[in-house]
Amino acid sequence: MSQLAIFDGSKSVTKESGDLFTWPITTEEDEKAVLDVLHNGSMSGTDITKQFEKEFASWIGLDNALGFSTGTAAIQSAMYGCKVGVGDEIICPTITYWASGLQAYTLGATVVFANVDKKTLCLDPSDIEHRISKRTKAIVCVHYLGHPCDMDAIMAIAKKHNIKVIEDVSHAHGALYNGQMVGTFGDVAAMSLMSGKSLAVGEAGILATNNVEIYERAMAFGHYSRYKAEDIKTKDLKEAAGLPLGGYKYRMHQMSSAMGRVQLKYYDKRSAEIRKAMNYFWDLLEDVPGVVAHRVNEANGHTMGGWYAAKGIYDSSQLGGLSVTRFCEAVRAEGVDCNPGANLALHTHALFQTTDVYGHGKPTRIANSDRDVRELDNSLEPSEEIGAMTYSVPWFKKFYPEKIEEYANAYKKVALNYKELLKDDKGNPEEIGGWHFFKHSKKI
Ligand SMILES: *Cc1c(COP(=O)(O)O)cnc(C)c1O
Repeated sequence: MSQLAIFDGSKSVTKESGDLFTWPITTEEDEKAVLDVLHNGSMSGTDITKQFEKEFASWIGLDNALGFSTGTAAIQSAMYGCKVGVGDEIICPTITYWASGLQAYTLGATVVFANVDKKTLCLDPSDIEHRISKRTKAIVCVHYLGHPCDMDAIMAIAKKHNIKVIEDVSHAHGALYNGQMVGTFGDVAAMSLMSGKSLAVGEAGILATNNVEIYERAMAFGHYSRYKAEDIKTKDLKEAAGLPLGGYKYRMHQMSSAMGRVQLKYYDKRSAEIRKAMNYFWDLLEDVPGVVAHRVNEANGHTMGGWYAAKGIYDSSQLGGLSVTRFCEAVRAEGVDCNPGANLALHTHALFQTTDVYGHGKPTRIANSDRDVRELDNSLEPSEEIGAMTYSVPWFKKFYPEKIEEYANAYKKVALNYKELLKDDKGNPEEIGGWHFFKHSKKI
């Protein structure tokens, strides 16, 4: 009889998970902070938000931070801050959540997609330069699933072509690259703080920068009540003070700000425990064929930040060509919620090919452009393969070695017995992953 649970062997995971996956970790301190806002009737104020911004700026090591209602709003405002406007282009990895780049449409700009590296799953620096045009205003780099981007290479390209870099830190709060925190390399960092993310404060986002003009433009775009002529140093912005240039209202909810202040205090400690747990899990799988860790070499001064929605890299060539779909079925039978794939490549969605969002009479992607940037999508096939090369792994929040060993054993057992799975392998479906499929359940 087979050892594999999918063939009625015993399951690898037997212990209760308890609080192994509970996130965010909230205590009476969070409750008190949130209730204080409620009792003070200051939900729509800005005093707590300003304190949170100050503490966040100091934590990340930048001069200015600005709170937002969502990460989507923060990234859109970062684009506006970088003067992305009508007819302009941004470069964005095609493997990411849509809110890394789609907001360019609202500014009359368009998105040029680039490939991700198959080991880091982050923007591939060698795939950027040939996509730059005279209309390219910014590169959005995403520290995907907690992994820092290759910032030295990306900054060198941006400098050479005089374009801005927006770091989307939504997956990687606190990650280090060469010992320096991500978000501090580019011109501006913007990120989500929604409750599924590593730094989770509710439904919220934040932007941080040393560049006063970017900060003030982002303020002017969606924060009318804080956009005051007497406070603004950027001359061009004085005239329209008092009304939001973007016509948006992006204030952060003060209950989120209050929770953010508490969460930030404990974030480094809690995310260090995540890192310890995740590294332990991957160490256990170090020599197992087919399953490759998605992580950094910490000896080089890099760390994974928060390890958002942790995934592994799958090498089916080491497992006789076994599909990741069949592999995950067998891991699920072992008692782990393992699913194949990551974000689907954005350029394959109709919204980036044919959809006319604003009634321009042509696809929005090219509505204001002087070139058809869709032609550049031809060289994105490598990123379309990412789904078949990735699978979810448990996103541990606690370092409980004995429990973690059970989960690692599930992957190991399946990988070592892969031959038994080959005969019933129906292969992968055409699409593996999703547009926004990350589960925010407590289980993984
Ligand atoms: C979650 C996320 C966002 C958007 O943040 P929201 O707070 O959900 O609006 C942007 N970029 C990436 C990479 C994300 O994962």
